[in-house]
Amino acid sequence: MHPPILGELTPGTTQRHLIKLPGPALANDEPRSVISVAGAKLGPVVFVNAGVHGGEYPAIEAVIRLGKTLDPKKISGSVILMPVSNLPAFRARTPFVCPIDNVNPNRVFPGDPLGSYSEQMTHALINEFVVHADAYIDLHGGDIPEALVPFVICRSEAGLPDSEGRDVAARSKEIAAAFGLPYVLTVSKPVQPSKGSSSYAAAAEKGIPSILAEAGGVGQMQEDAVELLVNGVLNVMRHLGMIDRAEIEFRVEQNLNAKKTAHRAVATAKAPAAASTVLTKFEWVYTKNAGMWYPKMGAGDVVKQGEQIGTVGDLFGETLEKIISPVNGVVLFLTINPSVLANGLLMGIGVE
Ligand SMILES: [Zn+2]
Repeated sequence: MHPPILGELTPGTTQRHLIKLPGPALANDEPRSVISVAGAKLGPVVFVNAGVHGGEYPAIEAVIRLGKTLDPKKISGSVILMPVSNLPAFRARTPFVCPIDNVNPNRVFPGDPLGSYSEQMTHALINEFVVHADAYIDLHGGDIPEALVPFVICRSEAGLPDSEGRDVAARSKEIAAAFGLPYVLTVSKPVQPSKGSSSYAAAAEKGIPSILAEAGGVGQMQEDAVELLVNGVLNVMRHLGMIDRAEIEFRVEQNLNAKKTAHRAVATAKAPAAASTVLTKFEWVYTKNAGMWYPKMGAGDVVKQGEQIGTVGDLFGETLEKIISPVNGVVLFLTINPSVLANGLLMGIGVE
C-alpha cells in the first residue's frame, strides 16, 4: 500500500508532493519534497530517502535524479522518493545533527511523537513512510568533514530472537548485496551508544527489509558517487522484480555518458566489485585530545592492528597522541577536517 499521507496515486504516473510531516515540533516546517513514481503494473513499494544528514549531497542528488528519470510506465510497483528528510540541516549546512535540537537523527530512530524535533521527525518518517513500504533504502555519504569508500549497512541476523526477525535481516542482506557497492557491513547493535537506533535497524525491527547505503562525501557533489547510488537503487529494484534488465542497462549507460562534474578531491570508488566484501564489525576510532588531526590513512586503505594510523597535535605542533588501529580492517570513513574535539570521531574501520 502507498503511504496514505500522499493521497491517491495514479498507476503509471510520477507525481510531485509537498508534504507537511505530523508532529507539534514540525508544525512550522517548510513542506518536504516527495516524489511518487507509481508503476503501471502492481509490485512492491520501495521508500528511498536521503538527507537524514543534511550535508550528504551525492545521496540527495541521487534521489532527485531517480525522480526525474524513473519511468512509471516501465515499473512494477512504486518508488517513493524523499530527497531531503532533515531539511533544517540541509538549509543551514549543518553536518551530523539537526540544528533545531542538536540531535543526530540517525541515533534516535524509530523516534518519539512527543520527543524533540529529530525524534518527532524520525517517528514521522517511520510511521508515515517506512511502515507502508515493502523495502526501505536510506541513502547517505560522508558528511561535510568526512571522506569514505562506498558501502552498505544492514542489520545482521545475529542476536535476533525470532525467525521473523531473522527473515527480515536475511532479506535486508540480500538487498544490501544487490545494491552493488564494494563493501557490505552487517551489524547487530548500534556502533555508538544512543537513545535510539539507526534508520535501517529501526525499520528492520518494524518488519521492513532495509539498508543504509553510503557514497561520496566532504561536502561536495561527486558525480561518480551519485551514479553509484542511482544504480544501486535500480539494482535493488531489479532484485525485487520491479524493473527488467534491459531498462537497467539503458540507465547505467546513460549515467556513464553523463557529464563528469565531480571534484575528485576524494576517490569515491573503485568500480563496483562483482561481489561485495562482507564485513561484520564496525570499529570506530576516537581521539582523547582536542587539536589538529593528521591522518596517515585514506578512505579505503587497509590497516593492521597496532599500526599507527595518524597523530593528533596541539597548536604548538607538539604531538599529543599517536592514533593506533585497534583492529585489522579497511577504513570505511575518515574525518578529513584537521580540527578535532576531545573524544572526537576520527574514523570507522570495517572488519571482516
Ligand atoms: Zn549520513
